[in-house]
Amino acid sequence: MSIDIAANLHAIEQRIIHACTRCGRDPQQVSLIAVSKKKPAELIEQAAAAGQPLFGESYVQEFVDKQQQITAAAQWHFIGALQSNKVKYLRGRTDLIHSVDRLSLAKEISKQWGKIDQTAEILIQVNVGDEQSKAGVAPEAAESLVRAVAQLPHIRIRGLMTLPPYHDDLEQVRPWFRQLRQLAQQLDRLQLPGVSMQTLSMGMSHDFEIAIEEGATLIRVGTAIFGRRE
Ligand SMILES: *Cc1c(COP(=O)(O)O)cnc(C)c1O
Repeated sequence: MSIDIAANLHAIEQRIIHACTRCGRDPQQVSLIAVSKKKPAELIEQAAAAGQPLFGESYVQEFVDKQQQITAAAQWHFIGALQSNKVKYLRGRTDLIHSVDRLSLAKEISKQWGKIDQTAEILIQVNVGDEQSKAGVAPEAAESLVRAVAQLPHIRIRGLMTLPPYHDDLEQVRPWFRQLRQLAQQLDRLQLPGVSMQTLSMGMSHDFEIAIEEGATLIRVGTAIFGRRE
């Protein structure tokens, strides 16, 4: 079965605009990340040709391989679980890393980006539901992690990311998104030097409209653009 990526992107754009209209937000404040993990480079090229500038990948080796194949101009966000020993392969290749949830990982990112005299842009991943199966710092521990990461020389915190507990009933997911926004507001009030809380990465194929209503500035959408993954 062939998939019409341009049509899927267009449909999502319309849904973003409608969600923004419902809650009085400017659609320009919401950026779509096309999550292309487990999808071939040709499909990324198709999405780029249809005007999609921003892609999200979750696996280091796969990301590096595909990035080398892509000829279209693209921005890349790394959104997956990240082991410290793999950070060196990402060095200088990402516009934003969404999944920083511990100081040891942040230190390694700062060290690697320091080697190329650049600053890594990152988000702190928060495990809002405190689920054992999910990565992310516990909400109560987020402030001390942000304070510690903010001290590192080659890293800049731009905001927060979350993967909330799954519910079929999206109204059950809404409070988790709201909690992430409130946590960002609390952390913003600390006015830590070099720390911004402007970016909220939340919402996926099944729940991005609710996330937008609760303040998402980055939504991470895979299946609704590229179809189901193996
Ligand atoms: C795979 C993935 C997504 C995309 O999920 P879909 O349901 O396919 O839209 C979003 N965020 C993260 C962190 C992911 O790993």
